[in-house]
Amino acid sequence: MDKNNLTEAMYYEEQHNNEVACVLCFRDCVIKDGERGWCKNRINVEGKLYTLVFERPCAIQIDPVEKEPLYHFLPGTTMLSISTASCNYRCRFCHNWHISFSTPEDLPSYEAPAREIVRLAQEKGCSMISHTYAEPTVHYEYIISIAEEVANSDLYQVCHTNLGIRPEPLQKLLEHVKALSIDLKGFCPDYYRRMCNADLVIVLENLVTVRESGVHFEVMENNLTEGSCPECGRQIPGIWE
Ligand code: SF4
Repeated sequence: MDKNNLTEAMYYEEQHNNEVACVLCFRDCVIKDGERGWCKNRINVEGKLYTLVFERPCAIQIDPVEKEPLYHFLPGTTMLSISTASCNYRCRFCHNWHISFSTPEDLPSYEAPAREIVRLAQEKGCSMISHTYAEPTVHYEYIISIAEEVANSDLYQVCHTNLGIRPEPLQKLLEHVKALSIDLKGFCPDYYRRMCNADLVIVLENLVTVRESGVHFEVMENNLTEGSCPECGRQIPGIWE
């Protein structure tokens, strides 16, 4: 792997024996030299961590904002949706599995610098750029790069996220995005573990952070039926109290 063609990751810690600890998402991967993290798109090359998907989206599409879904943020407008391969969850019900279950090598990708994404969004009359389909956290550096271009434009930037991100990168993300569409998969830790291979606690903590930030957000709960968890049948607790 030629590291000269790669972009260094923003959130990691160097460790002994050329290992690195990725501190971007809740998985806290410790990655040996030459190996990748759980999401398969971050690689340790000689003791430094690099992203394999910077400016390499596998999907670029124009969608109505309501498809995000965002129902109370510039309704009736369109967004330029982008995604890169892979995800930090493994939801058994994922409807974007062909993207989220893939590695960067599995899918063809575009070469799309941030400036080009912004230009395309403007040319197509979009109101915003959305990081969506698979979890945006795993292409975090690309989000920040696009944010720098968006800041000099009339566009907004939004994310559709599972919120399985660590607190520090979340705080930085909240400085840039104007809205979040948040997937809350359920209210049961067992359900999160078994159906998504994920952790509910960090999502709930991050929801509080998002609410306190003042950034517009809308929560989409995926799999609750009549107020009970489909995994264990427990009633939904009042987390907003
Ligand atoms: S972003 Fe990827 S490499 Fe980093 S902790 Fe999460 S799953 Fe692991």
